[in-house]
Amino acid sequence: EKKYDEGLAKSRQTFGDKLNSLLANFRTVDEDFFDDLEETLIESDVGFETAVKISDELRQEVKLKNAKTKQAVSEVIIQKLIELYEQEGADEDAKLHFATDGPTVFLFVGVNGVGKTTTIGKLAYQLKKTGKRVLLAAGDTFRAGAIEQLAEWGRRVEVPVVQKPARSDPASVVYDAVKRAKTEKFDVLLVDTAGRLQNKVNLMKELEKISRVITREIPTAPQEVLLALDATTGQNALTQAKQFKDVTPVSGIVLTKLDGTAKGGIVLAIRNELHLPVKLVGLGEQLDDLQNFDPEKFVAGLFG
Ligand code: GDP
Repeated sequence: EKKYDEGLAKSRQTFGDKLNSLLANFRTVDEDFFDDLEETLIESDVGFETAVKISDELRQEVKLKNAKTKQAVSEVIIQKLIELYEQEGADEDAKLHFATDGPTVFLFVGVNGVGKTTTIGKLAYQLKKTGKRVLLAAGDTFRAGAIEQLAEWGRRVEVPVVQKPARSDPASVVYDAVKRAKTEKFDVLLVDTAGRLQNKVNLMKELEKISRVITREIPTAPQEVLLALDATTGQNALTQAKQFKDVTPVSGIVLTKLDGTAKGGIVLAIRNELHLPVKLVGLGEQLDDLQNFDPEKFVAGLFG
C-alpha cells in the first residue's frame, strides 16, 4: 500500500532497517540475538515493557516452531508483530463506529498542535467522498485561531461549520450543531474541542458538559471520542493519553504525523500499555493521508 509505504519511510529506515540488519547478521537464535532485538524495539519507541513482552513471546514462538534458519526466524518476527499490532478485541474494535440511524457524532480531543483540526478536515473530506453529509462544530472556542482554522477546513472541503465567537460556551456551539445535524439530517457531525490539559478539572467539566448536550439530543451519541496524539512526540504522547483517559472516556486513538517520525513503534506502546485501539493514522499532510489503521499494511510498511 503506497500511503503506508511512503508514510512509514522514516520508521522503516530505523526500525525496519535495524531489524533487517539484525536478521542479515543472523547466525543463531541465542540470548545475544534477543538482547539486540529488545534494544532495537526500545529504540523504536515501543516502550520498555512492550519490548520485553515482544521478545519473550518471540523466544517462545521461535522455540515452538523450531525456527532455526534466518528465513524462519524472520517469518516468526513479522507474524508476531502483525499479531501484536492487531487490536485487542479484533477488527471490530479498530473500526470507527457509526450510528445505524440518525446522525453519528465523533468528538475529537487532544492538545494543541497534535493535528486534531487537520484530522477533522481530512476525515470530513473522506466521509464526504463516500457520499455522507458532514457537519463540523468549532467546539474549541478558547482560541479564535482554532475557530478560524476549522472554518478554513470547512471551506476547503466544502462542508458547513457551526461556530460562535471566541470564548463562547463550547457546549452551546455543540448544542446548535447537534440540533442542526438532526433537523437537516446530516450523517456525521465532527466536533472539535479545546484540549487544555493545563487545567484538568475544567477540561473534564467541559468535555462532560459537551457529552451531556450531545447525549440528550442523540442518546447513542457520541459514537466515538477520538484522542489525537502526535507520533513525533514519542513517549510524551503516551503520557498525554494517560491524562486524557483520566478526564474523558476515550474510545480510540488518531495517531498523527507518523510520516514525520522514525519511531513508528509507538503504535505498539499505545496498544499494549493503554489498551486503546488506534483507529486512524495520519501519514502526511494531504487530504487522503488519513488512513484506517491496518496492522498488516503497517508492518509491511515498516519492513519495506
Ligand atoms: P491542532 O492544533 O491539534 O488542531 O493541530 P493542527 O491540525 O493545526 O496541526 C498542526 C500541524 O501538524 C499542521 O501544520 C498540520 O499540517 C500538521 N499535521 C497534522 N497531521 C499531520 C500528519 O499526519 N502528517 C504531517 N506530516 N503533518 C501533519
